[in-house]
Amino acid sequence: MKPRYIERIIRGMPTSDGAGVRLTRSLGQTPFARLDPFLMLDEFASDNPDDYIAGFPPHPHRGFETVTYMLDGHMLHEDHLGNRGNLKSGGVQWMTAARGIIHSEMPQQESGRMHGFQLWVNLPAKEKMKDPSYRDIQAGDIPVVDFPGGTARVIAGTLDSEGKQTAGAVTEISTQPLYFDVRLEKGATFTHAIPAGHNAFVYVYEGALAADTDNGTGFSSLAQNSLGILSAGDSITVFAKDGPARFLLLAGKPLNEPVVQYGPFVMNSREEIDQAIRDYQAGTLASAAAHD
Ligand code: FE
Repeated sequence: MKPRYIERIIRGMPTSDGAGVRLTRSLGQTPFARLDPFLMLDEFASDNPDDYIAGFPPHPHRGFETVTYMLDGHMLHEDHLGNRGNLKSGGVQWMTAARGIIHSEMPQQESGRMHGFQLWVNLPAKEKMKDPSYRDIQAGDIPVVDFPGGTARVIAGTLDSEGKQTAGAVTEISTQPLYFDVRLEKGATFTHAIPAGHNAFVYVYEGALAADTDNGTGFSSLAQNSLGILSAGDSITVFAKDGPARFLLLAGKPLNEPVVQYGPFVMNSREEIDQAIRDYQAGTLASAAAHD
């Protein structure tokens, strides 16, 4: 096993999106802060309804997938075809926008905590114009694996713990993502294999993590709201040194294709972006999609 180290840190930056939802953005702050196939990672975390109540009114997407993971709170997802899906605490919506979706994501609470993440995962060129689809996964359908000193929720990919394999809730995505939500007690260690060809990162959302370095190369710690991009290798090991920690581990197979982004459209060329804008203006961006 060749360990991966934290070779670059992206500190989350406060921003707002939608109709004024306060977010911490790490991946996707700039075109240079992506990690193929991942385009963006936002965390929303607030007990103050002013920070989230305005939600995300109708807006389009084309060319990629949006993955919303709710830790706390309740959002209602609706699209232009009248499909509806409730996103509740612990649930995930994996939306493959592909050719096009126009949707809204609106809070269904006027007080209390709203905490979660939205990840954007790119699609390969050959899938960018396929039919859109949804996977709505309730909290109880996400496997939870206990290991010494912690637990992991297996959203996508397969978790290997003490020789036991646990398949995640989401499978058959062409970038073969691993998406784990891991909680460590103080003093605990998490170690896991990551396919050598995948790009991978860790995002800390509670506490802090410690990591090994390669003779001084790489970072030995990762603070809350920071994202650590991992070096090449085939495994990761992180520690909760000073207190409990919670983090996301993401890995995916890079597409190695050109990325041209214009807001909510992510295609391979300027011409395809121009087409997306024309289709949106003409009302033909999205067509029939079933919400299963
Ligand atoms: Fe959206």
